[in-house]
Amino acid sequence: MSKVPVTVAYGDGIGPEIMAATLAVLEAAGAELEVETIEIGREVYLRGNASGIEPEAWESLRRTKVFLKAPITTPQGGGYKSLNVTVRKALGLYANIRPCVSYVPFVESKHPDLDVVIVRENEEDLYGGIEYRQTGDSYQCLKIMTRPGTERLIRYGFEYARSYRRKKVTCFTKDNIMKLTDGMFHRVFEEVGAEYPEIEKEHWIVDIGAAKLADTPQAFDVVVLPNLYGDILSDVVAQLAGSVGLAGSSNIGAEYAMFEAIHGSAPRRAGQNLANPSGLLLAAVQMLLHIRQRGVAERVHNAWLRTLEEGIHTYDIFREGKSRQKVGTKEFGQAVIANLGKTPQTLKPVHYGEETENPRSSFPYRPPEERKVLVGVDVFVEFPGRIDDLVARLRQIGAERLDLQSIANRGMSVWPFGLGETLLAGPFQCRFLAKDASLGLSQRAIVELLGAVEAAGIEFTKTELLYTFNGVEGFSRSQGA
Ligand code: NAD
Repeated sequence: MSKVPVTVAYGDGIGPEIMAATLAVLEAAGAELEVETIEIGREVYLRGNASGIEPEAWESLRRTKVFLKAPITTPQGGGYKSLNVTVRKALGLYANIRPCVSYVPFVESKHPDLDVVIVRENEEDLYGGIEYRQTGDSYQCLKIMTRPGTERLIRYGFEYARSYRRKKVTCFTKDNIMKLTDGMFHRVFEEVGAEYPEIEKEHWIVDIGAAKLADTPQAFDVVVLPNLYGDILSDVVAQLAGSVGLAGSSNIGAEYAMFEAIHGSAPRRAGQNLANPSGLLLAAVQMLLHIRQRGVAERVHNAWLRTLEEGIHTYDIFREGKSRQKVGTKEFGQAVIANLGKTPQTLKPVHYGEETENPRSSFPYRPPEERKVLVGVDVFVEFPGRIDDLVARLRQIGAERLDLQSIANRGMSVWPFGLGETLLAGPFQCRFLAKDASLGLSQRAIVELLGAVEAAGIEFTKTELLYTFNGVEGFSRSQGA
């Protein structure tokens, strides 16, 4: 087998110790790796690099396309960008995969049958971090979800289920409220899911789904989620499995992949040979599968399960009377090495057949062909006076092709329908619709309307253009309208 180049970063805090233990196990297991080491994290940040990663590191990543990463410490204080977000976005790592398994009776968990894989969208949703303060008292964050971004994530979830012979894929959204963004995610789930008839599919509204997942995780198998719900629930599930110290994750893109533990750099434990290297070791197992060294991955994973079973535990999972030996990071790694070639006796051994194909991660995308028509505009205005006054002024605006249709505040209708009790804060969302929607509007008509709003002495803070797509409204209606 020829050696596969991989980029490795030792990170900060406990990072160097858990990485050394992990690489020692990989080497002893016969992994064919050509390791390129890069520096990332605290020192790089403190040298004045705001993203915590140097240009040479990008060159290595471009070359190897595979990244095994230890956790890093983001220094406190302003100006430092999250390295994880930078790497994910720069390399297009759109899917975050976190297998969570409980190891009862060897690691305590209320859920002995937990075996769930969280597949989280990694780039979109609220994590664009696009935020605005529009008025003195209102703040907003844009939730942007795209059809190609959603489609490839959901396809990857189904491909993953197929490759690893998982039976069911569940989707969580909040599409009863967010009918356009989460609604699209749900719809794509149904459409793509139809191409995988052998896999069971289900959808839950995220709140009750999360409650069910926390209560009865054995009812779930693979779960695909938008970014924010996935961020929260992947930690919940890892904790339900017994410890966040035990889970590894992969970040998969069409071309690149990054593997890491799910925990952070635990600075208080650093340099004491205390930390549990299991999360990073299991991430490395996922890396070995990715680079198709499946036999080595299987040896490492089974040796690790055997070590866990033998009660050889680091402090975080050690329990007096149940565990047999409390060990440090290095000794745990050595115990795994001593178990290479053995399989667990109580826990289920893993089998990664050489014949298994890796899940596909690159998918062609065909944008839908639709007729897009501009039918109106929401003009958000800051107006300190009474609504009647605002309505009177807006209605005087002589827009030839647009009518004032409604005014809402924080999504709640306040005119022509509204209740006096509604708190009025932040901008008013004034909706103008084309007098004749079938004709559509020009952008010039919108510019003229804005000119008239400005001339009426009303301060607008932003606009959103309103379109229909094949006649279907591409905008939400306000509540109570
Ligand atoms: P953390 O995960 O580092 O620690 C949380 C708790 O878990 C601590 O009590 C810690 O001692 C324990 N712990 C974590 N990993 C362990 C291990 N392998 N073995 C034994 N115990 C372990 O989270 P935190 O304290 O919130 O963050 C510390 C630093 O890590 C911060 O600078 C944060 O930005 C960074 N961080 C980095 C990553 C990453 O690089 N992927 C992820 C999360 C946090």
